[in-house]
Amino acid sequence: PHAAENRVIEPLYAEILRRNQGEKEFHQAVREVLETLGPVLAQRPEFVDARIIERICEPERQLIFRVPWSDDSGDIHVNRGFRVEFSSSLGPYKGGLRFHPSVNLGIVKFLGFEQIFKNALTGMPIGGGKGGSDFDPKGRSDAEIMRFCQSFMTELHRHLGEYTDVPAGDIGVGGREIGYLFGQYKRITNRFESGVLTGKGLGWGGALVRTEATGYGCVMFTAEMLRSRGESLDGQRIAVSGSGNVAIYAIEKAQQLGATVITCSDSDGYVVDEKGIDLALLKEIKEAGRGRVSEYAERRDGAVFVPGAGVWDVPCDVALPCATQNELHEADALTLVRNGVKAVAEGANMPTTPEAVRVLQEAGVAFAPGKAANAGGVATSALEMQQNASRDSWTFAHTEQRLAEIMRHIHDSCYTTAERYGCPGNYVVGANIAGFELVADAMLAQGLI
Ligand code: GLU
Repeated sequence: PHAAENRVIEPLYAEILRRNQGEKEFHQAVREVLETLGPVLAQRPEFVDARIIERICEPERQLIFRVPWSDDSGDIHVNRGFRVEFSSSLGPYKGGLRFHPSVNLGIVKFLGFEQIFKNALTGMPIGGGKGGSDFDPKGRSDAEIMRFCQSFMTELHRHLGEYTDVPAGDIGVGGREIGYLFGQYKRITNRFESGVLTGKGLGWGGALVRTEATGYGCVMFTAEMLRSRGESLDGQRIAVSGSGNVAIYAIEKAQQLGATVITCSDSDGYVVDEKGIDLALLKEIKEAGRGRVSEYAERRDGAVFVPGAGVWDVPCDVALPCATQNELHEADALTLVRNGVKAVAEGANMPTTPEAVRVLQEAGVAFAPGKAANAGGVATSALEMQQNASRDSWTFAHTEQRLAEIMRHIHDSCYTTAERYGCPGNYVVGANIAGFELVADAMLAQGLI
């Protein structure tokens, strides 16, 4: 049906492949968005004339820098730092920093590209960006983490600012790292510029609910999807992958809403606990001890640790992939469908492969892409920026209420946009088009830049 639009999109995609060779996650993220934009381009030829797709797929600025640091034995290491400032159409570049050995330019670009549309969907004034390093924090001492963060910020600081670029956390970057990064920014610039980073400590400009926000928001979005199908989370069996910040607070909110969460995982394997995950124990192991989920099974009666496998074989009503990109494959989706899954919502960024998404959608499963379902984290970062700008701090209840309103707004705009473009119930189409239209309209209004 969209053959004419595909004739516009295919050559654009081929050109993007040609000029970004080897960046397979970036190709995947771009393809997934472009595939859904045909109907908008047909209705809004001015977007085609203004070359919006070509411009949006090319980052405004890409920074790559050396990060030298010395370990506790005095040995010197060199890592690579990245910041991709993708789009400032709606506000200062905004997006997290990821410290993980898999980080390279293609990964940062895929994350930054997703962030543009995610941030637009929140309705808050934030552009899109992402950064990080191939530094591996696993097994590093606190002092080593601090020296790495200081070295990273020594270069990055000149590119940041509350009106310019505002990083936060992502995989491998939590409250501790944001503290060290903020300290170094403050020392170099001699400015207590609260709004330059989000995810700060509660005593020095941080916002309540920011820690919980991505996981909470993902479950709130899932609840909205179920509500639109006349169901609720109460009594549902939920499989969660991951055991980091997103997974932990997805589990917490799901339990608050009456669901039973039976799994979590890390890169060593997964835990299944039929009685429901004991969240206090999981937090003690992961947050206080920085330990592994295998330890959870050792300490919890009836819980089983399965090494070297993912969680998707465990039958569930709702699946929440909250670990990392491309962790839920086609075979997993087929298993989930066979086991009667009703909804899948991405807590991580792009955890579901394109083939798996197709399987879920064709089976009529409610599927929420990360740019909608995990937007609660960055939305609450924007709430943190608001509080910093007005030198205010809000209560937990008020902030959580704002988060719930934002997640409902995102759900409704994805839902109605999908309907308007003839794909009812397709949250991928809804999220991509709703996010794209906001950014593209701003780009048209701001001229050729
Ligand atoms: N890293 C998170 C994300 O993927 C949060 C970004 C932020 O708060 O700026 O959206």
